[in-house]
Formats: sequence, structure tokens, C-alpha cells
Amino acid sequence: MNIPFNKLFVTARETEFIQDAVASGCLTGDGRYTRLCHAWLEENTGCAKALLAHSCTGALEMAAVLANIGPGDEVIMPSYTFVSTANAFVLRGAVPVFVDIRPDTQNLDERKIAAAVTARTKAIVPVHYAGVACEMDGILQVAGEHRLLVIEDAAQGVLSTYKGKALGAIGAMGTLSFHGSKNIAAGEGGALLINDDFLGERAEIIREKGTNRSRFFRGEVDKYTWVDIGSSYLPSELNAAFLWAQLQSAEEIQARRMRVWETYFRRLGAINSDLFRLPVCPPECGHNAHIFYVLFRNAGIRQSFIQALKERGIDALFHYIPLHLSPAGRRYGRVSGRLENTEAAGEGLVRLPLWAGMSAKDVDYVCETVTDVVKKLS
Ligand SMILES: *Cc1c(COP(=O)(O)O)cnc(C)c1O
Repeated sequence: MNIPFNKLFVTARETEFIQDAVASGCLTGDGRYTRLCHAWLEENTGCAKALLAHSCTGALEMAAVLANIGPGDEVIMPSYTFVSTANAFVLRGAVPVFVDIRPDTQNLDERKIAAAVTARTKAIVPVHYAGVACEMDGILQVAGEHRLLVIEDAAQGVLSTYKGKALGAIGAMGTLSFHGSKNIAAGEGGALLINDDFLGERAEIIREKGTNRSRFFRGEVDKYTWVDIGSSYLPSELNAAFLWAQLQSAEEIQARRMRVWETYFRRLGAINSDLFRLPVCPPECGHNAHIFYVLFRNAGIRQSFIQALKERGIDALFHYIPLHLSPAGRRYGRVSGRLENTEAAGEGLVRLPLWAGMSAKDVDYVCETVTDVVKKLS
């Protein structure tokens, strides 16, 4: 057996849509497929405006510009996240302020945010780890009390919900990723979701190199020109065509991933061991089966586990090195309070193979192997 961690899942129509895009004679951004994706995202998330980007990283950069983040501003975020969450704001001269995560969901601990707020704080960036929602009511409440903008890093949260609302559509803005490692994958890709209506027009400008070209194409102005700062964040129609096929099959992809996730949860839950624990998903969170992780008590046991699985052909991966412990995180960021849960996840968390095309036999083999390896490590 050889079970990779992740594998591209191609639905029926990616190639067909790409050929159609090529036949149209124009592959630059904001063509027919991009517009279809925008409409799908608006309909399925309930956001006021969706804009495709070349990556979630790009969408976060746009959000930082839209939020008017500048030198010396502080942005509260978890340290247990991907570098782009912090980088997007550091590029504007801001200081990421790292707050610990909750021990259950691995998400930003809403109870520890208030203590991190200073006169320089501008925004909170909750990250929905593994597609499981942060405690958004608590986060929106602190944000309201201190007049802070909430920008959701929902890179992993496509089709996940919190109290019935789509992730990315709850804060002022949200970002999604369609990177190859995510549920809905276009190789590289992302989206900015705008929920506060008034940010929409400026978002289009920032995304189009600081010009009002989008308005020009809609016939609202008779020429376009440089009106603001901005950069190039549009994906080409090739990516949008691929993404459109994936979005058409989003529910099927999610259902397939969910079957794997549920099987892991049931079968690994039957292992009687205090070496590790399984993921927690609060009842108000509808998750999308993005990641299945197990959390070990320490780095030593985790390493033995990863090694034992590797010897049996299974590719299991640890996840983030907490940003506050990284060279750039130390240089650009600041820590608020103790980050003990962050460090525990940094040392103990392992992700198991999970992709939409995984066969029942593959899943069975992983469950049996994990059960056996944990028994031997106990
Ligand atoms: C994947 C990911 C990103 C970056 O997404 P890209 O589309 O690769 O730029 C940002 N934040 C989080 C939490 C992610 O998981």
C-alpha cells in the first residue's frame, strides 16, 4: 500500500471548460468563467460581493489594503496558522499580535482577545482551522466593543458554516483558498468575500492594479485610469474554468470527504488510548471535512507515529510551526499572554490522508494501521 496525504480530485468537466475558455479566444481575467464563479460564491455564501483572486494570500493582501492597515497598526490573530495570515498585514507595516488558540478546536480563543487589544489594534483575523468555525459570536462581540474590523481567514472553510452562516461571510470580509491542498482546488486560486457593501467598489479597484477598469468594462465610466493603490490579483480564465467545474461538484466533493472523515472519527474513536485525542467540532459548526487530525501528547510520540506510518506506506503530516516561534514571526510579531495550546498543537498534531477520491479500502488500511501503531506505542 502507498497512501499519499492528498491527491487531486478531478470531476467530469474541468477539461471541457478549459477547452471552451481557450476556444473563446481570450483568457485574461474576469471573463465568463470568473463571473460564473463569482455568482456561485455569492449565492452559496450569502456574501455581498465575491471576487476571485489568484490565491487566498492575494485575497488577504487585498483585505489588508481595504482595511486601511498601516505601519504600526496591530492585528490580532492566532499563531497556529499559515504564514499568509500574518504576511498580508506585515506587508502593510502592521504588527501581528499572536493570541493563543482554544484547546478543543485549535481556533483563536475569543476569551483571550480583549487582553491583547491596545490603542493601535485595528483588526482581528480569526482562522477557521480544519474548516471548523471559530466562536464567531464571541469574536464579533469583542470586535464590536473595541471597534475592530473582523477579517475571516476562511482559507480552509469553503462550504463550512457557523450557526447556519457560511464561513467567510460573517466578518466585514473573508478569504477563501482554492489551492491544490484545499477541498475545492484550482491548482492555485482564492477569493475575497466582501460582506460590508461599501468596501465592494474599492475592492474591485485594488484588485485591478488600482484602476477603475471594472467600472469601465461595465460601461459606468468612459475611460479607465489609476485611482488608488492596488496590484494584480485576478486569476486567468484558465483557472476560473477549472474552478467552475470544481464548484459544480462542490457538494459531491464534500460528501466524499465527509465519508472518509466520519469513518476515521468512528474507527479511531474506538481505540482505547490516552496518547492522543480526536478533533472536536462544536454543534453550531457545520464543518467541511477539510482536515482529519489526531493530537498527540508530545512531539516524541508524534514523531514515532509518523515514522511508523511512513514505514507502512502512509503519508501523515504534522502541520504549522507556530508563527511566534518562526524567525519572521519573532521579528515582525508580538505575543499576547501564554501560547500553550498553540505550542501543544505545534508539537502534537498530525493530519491523516484525506482526499475526495480515497477508496474505502484505503481508509480501512489507514484505520487498521493507526490502531495497530497506537497499540504498539502505548
Ligand atoms: C491555505 C491557506 C492560506 C493560503 O492560501 P493560498 O491560496 O495558498 O494563498 C492562508 N491561510 C490559511 C489558514 C490556509 O490554510
